[in-house]
Amino acid sequence: MRVTVLGAGTMGHGIAQVSATGGYDVTMRDIDESILSDGMESIESNLQGGVDREKLSAAEKEDALDRIETTTDLEAAVADADLVVEAVPEDMDLKQQTFDDVASHAPEDAVIASNTSSMSVTEIASTLDRPGRAIGLHFFNPVHIMGLVEIVLAEQTDEATVDAATEFVETIEKEPVTVRDSAGFASSRLGVTLGVEAVRMLEEGVAGPRDLDAAMELGYNHPMGPIELGDVVGLDVRLDILEYLREELGERFRPPQLLKQKVRAGKLGKKTGEGFYVWEDGEIVGVSGEWGDD
Ligand code: NAD
Repeated sequence: MRVTVLGAGTMGHGIAQVSATGGYDVTMRDIDESILSDGMESIESNLQGGVDREKLSAAEKEDALDRIETTTDLEAAVADADLVVEAVPEDMDLKQQTFDDVASHAPEDAVIASNTSSMSVTEIASTLDRPGRAIGLHFFNPVHIMGLVEIVLAEQTDEATVDAATEFVETIEKEPVTVRDSAGFASSRLGVTLGVEAVRMLEEGVAGPRDLDAAMELGYNHPMGPIELGDVVGLDVRLDILEYLREELGERFRPPQLLKQKVRAGKLGKKTGEGFYVWEDGEIVGVSGEWGDD
């Protein structure tokens, strides 16, 4: 069985890697040779990490690498695909165009999946002649580490497509959860709900970032508290998701003023060195602003 991955960026190369280690023949397609070679380098280095940690043998690493082909030619990439997973940028027109191009060149019964993290799979699939073959496969970053894949059922997805997608996710040894296509799916909607409430609690002076995070880490066994997680994801990314969820699901997702102020100030979290925490070399070194404690 052949899996074709469109896009070799952050998510695409990871999806290609786990498909190959799962035993599938893989074609990875991007628009530029240099992105493909960067993607292959990352895959090689991730697999070597696995060998170093004794998660796989050197021979398994080589087998996985041998199973991955790269190309910039879309037609050739999908010509004998059984499953195509697109991981191109989060843009509705691009996603729909990509689905249409795949449908024109892939075998009739190939499943076409989107790795969108927020957009409606129903809408992405709406321009296809046979939208029953479309589905969402929402992977998490970094793909080779994270165990979850959300299987997102578009309004049009047929049962054979769900079965094929579920079998794929299980074969690559990820845990599938199945959700109906709705804004934020399960993971983003629940994750953002906790994050936004934590920011409201900061605004109300209920507690500071460290105490709120400790409450969830120690009290609920979360590996990372909601304020720190927001800083890691990026406060701008969080704000965009909230605005989308508010549009789709209502006022309970209204972004707190404090979050908007952080984004306006360019304090986006880990990537800019300050969000609700202060970061240096990827580590928290203090707490921002009025909660500053060190
Ligand atoms: P990215 O920018 O790292 O990679 C996108 C890649 O697609 C780029 O290499 C780009 O050159 C390529 N591309 C553009 N047009 C193309 C085309 N027509 N055909 C093939 N490749 C094309 O983006 P990413 O972070 O990997 O995100 C990809 C998708 O995955 C988005 O829909 C995003 O929402 C979703 N997603 C991202 C994350 C994350 O944490 N980054 C997590 C889950 C889902």
